Amino acid sequence: MKVLVINCGSSSLKYQFMDTDDQIVLAKGLIERIGMSGAILTHKRSDGDTVRIVGEILDHTLAIQYVLGVLLSKNHGVIQDRKEIDAVGHRVAHGGETFSSSVLLTNEVMQAIEDNVELAPLHNPANIKGILAVKNILPDVPQCCVFDTAFHVKMPAKAFLYGIPYELYKRYKIRRYGFHGTSHLFVSKKAAEILGQAPEELKIITLHLGNGCSMTAVDGGKSVDTTMGFTPLEGLLMGTRTGDIDPSVVLYIMGKEGLSLSEITTLLNKHSGLAGVSGESSDMREIVEAVKNNHVRAKYAFDMFCYRAKKYIGSYAAAMGGVDAIVFTGGIGENSSDVREEICKGLEFLGIELDEEKNSKRETDLSKSGSRVKILRIPTNEELVIALDTARIVSESK
Ligand code: ADP
Repeated sequence: MKVLVINCGSSSLKYQFMDTDDQIVLAKGLIERIGMSGAILTHKRSDGDTVRIVGEILDHTLAIQYVLGVLLSKNHGVIQDRKEIDAVGHRVAHGGETFSSSVLLTNEVMQAIEDNVELAPLHNPANIKGILAVKNILPDVPQCCVFDTAFHVKMPAKAFLYGIPYELYKRYKIRRYGFHGTSHLFVSKKAAEILGQAPEELKIITLHLGNGCSMTAVDGGKSVDTTMGFTPLEGLLMGTRTGDIDPSVVLYIMGKEGLSLSEITTLLNKHSGLAGVSGESSDMREIVEAVKNNHVRAKYAFDMFCYRAKKYIGSYAAAMGGVDAIVFTGGIGENSSDVREEICKGLEFLGIELDEEKNSKRETDLSKSGSRVKILRIPTNEELVIALDTARIVSESK
């Protein structure tokens, strides 16, 4: 089946066009600056052919028109007819408590995504725009929704409740939701495959370390706890987000600096984390470089980043009563041997023993022979999960 995978942001649209039978990416691309002057579409075909188109792409409907145009284009395209698109799969940010797995788009599903807009005010509206745009342009093509939160929805109450009055959970659905679910699910399954064991037999800690960072305790194939919370702000230190913080600090800053709700939200989400602590960059490559040049605040940021991940490994090992494997993924997790080394350092008492040479050579299995806990480096592939889920759901619905 040929599936178009779409990930809509408020002013961007990422896409991959995949053949799910062979699990091949036929083409992929990105549109940036939707609704602004000089929007840019970058399109890459699997043979390396690349094209960059600059245009006025005023909304998501036009953006989908551009994607179709380039997929069908004589010089850069991969299909002759739009009928060759069998299905469309959307990454949807927030499924609230409604969705614990991917679903076929129906009017009820659309309504539920709209009902969850309050929980993800920046992301769900963009996802809805993408879905409506496809509905407009390809009305006969089935669409599926794959939720970033779905993998975590069935966590036990002790992991998802906050210590606030219970009525507030009931009234406003304030609970831990967790994000990056598709990635945590993908790499934990892949880890089980690599280890040659069933996911049900394994206790795995997955570390998705990118611009946004989260960790998940995956016990027997299920997410039992995760670091991101009601929003993607909680947990690990991130590129520009605080991660865990005493809520009183937030109130104190607001009072001292006279900040409004939207100003404090921006401070916590966009000016904190690696960027805020180091004063240098949100990009881990630049932090690592600065640390090598003895930049003191970059060193604080690097150490905080790794220390917090290390603490959560201990915490999740305790939560699951053991750990068989830890998995690194995401831009930092896959690429930074310095970060992996610093996180694993000192965890030998848990049976986590990193092999420095394998780590620097970026192998898949990074653990010393004899390490009780396997340490794996697994590139994530959220688009593949979305494409495969979409193909399965659409086939089953026929
Ligand atoms: P997103 O969360 O936006 O999908 P990515 O998963 O692509 O982000 O991760 C981006 C992060 O990965 C950035 O902090 C970047 O510095 C980091 N990164 C990418 N390559 C390397 C590398 N070779 N060494 C260290 N960090 C890297």
